[in-house]
Amino acid sequence: MRGIMPAMPAVTRSAETVADVLVVASSRLAGVLTLQTLLLGGLAAALLGLAWLCVRRFTSAGRRGQAGDTADRALIGQLNESLQRSEARFRSLMGLSSDWYWEQDAEFRFVEVIGKPPAAMAVLENLLLGKRRWEAPVVGMSETDWAAHRALLARHAPFRDLEYGLRLPDSERLFHVRISGEPIIDEAGRFQGYRGIGTDITARREAEAQLRKLSTAVEQSPVSILITDVHGAIEYVNPRFCQTTGYAAAEVLGRNPRILKSGAASEATYRELWTTITDGREWAGELHNRKKNGDLFWESVRIIPLLSAHGEVMNYMAVKEDITLRKEMTAREQLRQEQMLHHARLAAMGEMAAALAHELNQPLAAIANFSGVLEHQLTASPADPTQMREVARTITGQALRAGEIVWRVRAFTRKHETRRMPTDVNALIREVAPLADLAAKSRGVIHDYDLAPDLPRVTIDRVQIEQVLLNLIRNGVEAMEDVAGERRLRLISRLTDNGSAVQISVCDRGHGLADRVLADLFTPFVTTKPDGMGMGLSISRDIVEAHGGRLWVAGDEDGGGTTFRFTLPVKAGEE
Ligand code: ADP
Repeated sequence: MRGIMPAMPAVTRSAETVADVLVVASSRLAGVLTLQTLLLGGLAAALLGLAWLCVRRFTSAGRRGQAGDTADRALIGQLNESLQRSEARFRSLMGLSSDWYWEQDAEFRFVEVIGKPPAAMAVLENLLLGKRRWEAPVVGMSETDWAAHRALLARHAPFRDLEYGLRLPDSERLFHVRISGEPIIDEAGRFQGYRGIGTDITARREAEAQLRKLSTAVEQSPVSILITDVHGAIEYVNPRFCQTTGYAAAEVLGRNPRILKSGAASEATYRELWTTITDGREWAGELHNRKKNGDLFWESVRIIPLLSAHGEVMNYMAVKEDITLRKEMTAREQLRQEQMLHHARLAAMGEMAAALAHELNQPLAAIANFSGVLEHQLTASPADPTQMREVARTITGQALRAGEIVWRVRAFTRKHETRRMPTDVNALIREVAPLADLAAKSRGVIHDYDLAPDLPRVTIDRVQIEQVLLNLIRNGVEAMEDVAGERRLRLISRLTDNGSAVQISVCDRGHGLADRVLADLFTPFVTTKPDGMGMGLSISRDIVEAHGGRLWVAGDEDGGGTTFRFTLPVKAGEE
């Protein structure tokens, strides 16, 4: 590698030559150093001083004649030493600096690169030495950029802060550099090449790229992002915020986010919000806000305090999502479900009313018959009080049975508000099963109760789970309508293996599931029955899932027919 200084002049050279060398060397340094640091600039100034001193001494020594020769040699020796020290200092400083010095010949080929830590230096030397800048594997400069740069070089003009990337051999990594240079013109005014300083800006570029990525993510985020200072003054909003609220960024910068307040949330909510975030904790909740045009909207909001390295709150960032539509849809879906439930119950009630007439007919007919018997006995003589009491008891029994039927139907149809209570599932099954029979208009079905004792109570909306059981039992009973032989329906309750839920199974011995409904059994309006609505299973699954459970068809495990099974979590509040 060539030195920054020209080769050391022989002691025999004239002092003018030495002085010239020093002037050139120091001006070279100065050229570099103005680009580099003031510190190195000082070193260059010292060299210039030395040159001046040399010229002066030589002139006076010439005048003194031969006697001055020894003194001159000593002086030149000192100057040589000083020059070497300066060169060593320069190299050491360049080595410490994150920058490097480069030099090109008149053909723009790199002849020298000094400085930088050894590893990067090796890369630079390998990539650049002997090549023109645009011959190295560079990126980030277009053809036009290069053409403009080369035109500038052709004019021998200085240039500053040219930035480009060097692709490292066998690596995807880019080494980003920023260079400044100026032409080297010799004493005769001839162009000798270029020299200058290069700076490694890779870390800065990578940080910039990272920042760009992050800021693009924030800018293009599908959620609103708002950043305030510690006093709540807005410092940044992303485009989605502007889209959602109708405010332009300039309209909100410096203002407090309370401009969005609709007044719907209580002061306590805001107090709690501020206490949480000033404490350095995250706050999450839903706020009802107002757009610029006055429209109200719901937002799901997360406010995150941005902390400094010392843990102090620097800013607050709110990440907000407009959930107005979702809220409306949830409300609509809830309404739709309630309406479906209502219709299903009405349909069930209609069917039950017909069955009720039939069912009541029996005890009423019995009452009428036995009343006739009683009347007959009253007029007979001798009257038989024991027999009459027996008949009266039968009449009472029938009347009570009729009353019970009416009471159950009334209980089922009474106005209902959603309310979850700890409930004994076994008792519920025993109560609902006979009602389901009524609804299915089917007679002669034997109920087998296989109910696990000591089941924990489950927190459920009793009427909704009644509805599920009613649907499943009625389906089971109806599936057995045309089946020859014993019509048996098993109702099983169990605690699941891990004890987290109660599992209820309704097993019939009916005709099994028709192939055409298998695929979408739980889809609304899928039915094989001429007067079916196809809503029962869909509603039942919705209800069970709303309780945190699962409803599925378990096939014909019970020896033919179909088994429907559902779970209800034991722990309350699992939605
Ligand atoms: P619907 O009873 O009004 O038809 P559901 O949603 O309750 O509506 O049932 C949908 C269909 O699923 C029924 O029409 C029937 O074909 C089938 N299905 C339901 N339960 C059973 C069962 N236990 N055995 C056989 N098929 C059944």
